[in-house]
Amino acid sequence: MTQPEDRPELAPNQTPGLVCSHNHFYSALARGMPAPPRTPTSFPEILELVWWRLDLALDLDLIEWSAKLAALTALESGCTAIIDHHESPNAIEGSLSVIADACAEVGVRVNCAYGITDRHGPEGAAAGLAENDRFLSTGGRGMVGLHAAFTCEPDTIAAAAELAERHGVGVHVHVAEGEVDTWRRLQGHTNDRWLLIHGVHLPDDHGLAGTIVHNPRSNMNNAVGYANPRRFTNPVALGTDGIGTDMLDEFRVAFVKTREVDVTVGPDVAWSWLERNWSLFPEAGSDVVTWSYAPMEPWRLAYTTQVRPTRVEVDGEVVWVDGRPTRVDGDEIKAKAAEAAQRLFARLESF
Ligand SMILES: [Zn+2]
Repeated sequence: MTQPEDRPELAPNQTPGLVCSHNHFYSALARGMPAPPRTPTSFPEILELVWWRLDLALDLDLIEWSAKLAALTALESGCTAIIDHHESPNAIEGSLSVIADACAEVGVRVNCAYGITDRHGPEGAAAGLAENDRFLSTGGRGMVGLHAAFTCEPDTIAAAAELAERHGVGVHVHVAEGEVDTWRRLQGHTNDRWLLIHGVHLPDDHGLAGTIVHNPRSNMNNAVGYANPRRFTNPVALGTDGIGTDMLDEFRVAFVKTREVDVTVGPDVAWSWLERNWSLFPEAGSDVVTWSYAPMEPWRLAYTTQVRPTRVEVDGEVVWVDGRPTRVDGDEIKAKAAEAAQRLFARLESF
């Protein structure tokens, strides 16, 4: 296994902390939510009938419990660093700090971004921009978030790119996830620090700079098509798009998708995407996860399910051991998150 530099010597049953390069912690409470008013028949309808109702219902308390639950789940999966993309149109100000504080309490690393969008008019876009600026200005670890080019006016995209430049960070944005997308609006703004999420419908010669983050399980779940990221010259990393933080599992899914279109492909390709995550969150390279299996090699892990961490060390501190977090009461978080989920489900009725 290729290891990040400056990391501790690892045993065959150990890896650095795994990284998830695209997540939505706010979706952690969504499981079990009431069915939408009607069954979505396309990706745009999935957004309108499920996610754009759910994000409207979020308040800061719900964001806190979803983030704590998601952070706990990350440790359960040996994932010590998450690049999160957040949206809560009715609770924008302060939302990124709530997520960062929740993760700090549990003991996982997080990179936060608020997904700016014009879906709620120019005031909504301005508030999203301001939240990214506030969080980054106060020393928060993050990027500038944009929902997607197709929900943002060109001026909003330019403002986000300018804000990111001012803070010396990249922009974290969904790109060409569905067939109908205005990704060309991003041309002329991108650089190597940008995270381009999905890229399913990007042409090979799209001309955008940045790392493409592949989320194969989510793409299948939304029936948007296969990104086939091997075709790009951009670096490729791996995320879950909010369906947990089990990066070994996402690696397996990414691997079988490559095999589905080319049976000669080995697991080294999907594994290289998982390894690329460390370049986006280098601190996780010094975290140490001890696993229930050895050796932690791609050909073995591609076909070995149920590999679990037995011990997780973040920044020199053991934060997970023998099935339990050390800093927080995991049972209490799960119970409080379950209560919060019921409140969220009740609020959904009004959106
Ligand atoms: Zn996403």
